[in-house]
Amino acid sequence: MRVLHVSSEVAPFSKTGGLGDVVAALPQALSALGVEACVATPRYQHVDVSGFIEQPPLEVELGFATEVVRIFETIQSAVRIFFVDHPPSFARSGLYGEHGGDYPDNARRFALFGAAASKLGALVLRPDVLHAHDWQAAPALIYNYARRDEPDFPSTVFTIHNLAFQGRFPGATMDELGFTPELFDPRALEYYGDVNFLKGAVLLADRVTTVSPRYASEIQTSEFGVGLDGVLRQRRQDLVGILNGIDDQVWDPARDVYLPAHFDAANLEGKEECKRALQREFGLPEVSVPLSAAISRLSYQKGFDLITQALPDLLTSNMQFVVLGSGDRSLEEALTELSKRTPEKMAVRIAYDDRLAHLIEAGADLLVVPSRYEPCGLTQLYALRYGTIPIVRATGGLDDSIIDIGESTAGTGFKFSDYSKSALTEACQRAFACYASAGWKPLVERAMAQDFSWRRSARDYLDLYSALFHS
Ligand code: ADP
Repeated sequence: MRVLHVSSEVAPFSKTGGLGDVVAALPQALSALGVEACVATPRYQHVDVSGFIEQPPLEVELGFATEVVRIFETIQSAVRIFFVDHPPSFARSGLYGEHGGDYPDNARRFALFGAAASKLGALVLRPDVLHAHDWQAAPALIYNYARRDEPDFPSTVFTIHNLAFQGRFPGATMDELGFTPELFDPRALEYYGDVNFLKGAVLLADRVTTVSPRYASEIQTSEFGVGLDGVLRQRRQDLVGILNGIDDQVWDPARDVYLPAHFDAANLEGKEECKRALQREFGLPEVSVPLSAAISRLSYQKGFDLITQALPDLLTSNMQFVVLGSGDRSLEEALTELSKRTPEKMAVRIAYDDRLAHLIEAGADLLVVPSRYEPCGLTQLYALRYGTIPIVRATGGLDDSIIDIGESTAGTGFKFSDYSKSALTEACQRAFACYASAGWKPLVERAMAQDFSWRRSARDYLDLYSALFHS
């Protein structure tokens, strides 16, 4: 079986969040199960293609225009990755925008990418399944749909990694992009007079998946449905939540290239050393207090307003807190301000820094993820593997992946439900108390024994493809 994944991010070539990690790891895990998985992705400015194989160029029709794109191929861990190269669209410093704003031609950029990926599938790769991820890849399904009467038309899967981003553009975009006019219909792409890429993909794909079972049911409610809950309820028979896995080669405390010392559940001395390195890195005293951390995009979704509300109280406890993140200016400022008030307990790094993300996962004792909503979340899964105990809000994949220690002897972290300062504070206080108790070491060992590798989830995707393939 051949599966073509279409995605605007693939780590390590491009990544702004979990999508890049997932599209790097899932095809590899599928390959290990005997699937011939390949990936199509844009070639952004920073992707160096020297040494890659150049495939014949493709002519792509976009409305009345024809664009020529070059195709570069490389192989990463047995997965063929095809880069769609069109410098006017992708040779820019950002993936989706700059200085906090989206590029004004994003509809056209990603339509071109999707049309090229769909054509690469039709002419060269001939996949059995075309699997598109998030709104930026939705055009691949939309253009592909025009071929539905051809005999080798692939089955299609669309994965929602975050429903908040839908790719919504003015209605006139339909003609500019050459989408089939009949698709400008409420039963396809039309959405209150606009074109909605994600809605179109949800309605045109054979199957729709999202990245955790709980998020799959949440998005069918008006609270989490971001205006598309009705559409998703309509597709509920074909909608499934499959929890993301983690790349346990890249995220492995016993081998992690970014760490000053290594460790595993049997020997945690290296974790102590990582904690001291982390304290030094952030200029905090090297003391044995619970070191809490957050690594995140700083956005409305991630719940950092709760953190800034709770911190003044929490910082009166014997603890330390480090933050690595960037995004919303006012949150960046609020966190920086708090750290200035208590520099001996709190430090902030406003940056996107992969090395530091690994050091924090390894060196912290607790990782706080208080999201308003969370399709899956990866940082809490990395934390478990590094013996760092998650404190999470019970939503989406956070709820699916963490068991509260108060609920079960198999508990792996601390959960709270209400989106409130008091609920977060109470969960943190429970965690600090546990840190000082005999229950802490067994908790760390249980966390590290969890298996959130891709093996299980890739099998679920394979079952999904197989069912389509044989239907
Ligand atoms: P989302 O995709 O919503 O941003 P996830 O938890 O699914 O959230 O994935 C976030 C990914 O991005 C993780 O790999 C995390 O380590 C990484 N990440 C987030 N913020 C930063 C940062 N400031 N520096 C380095 N890595 C970051």
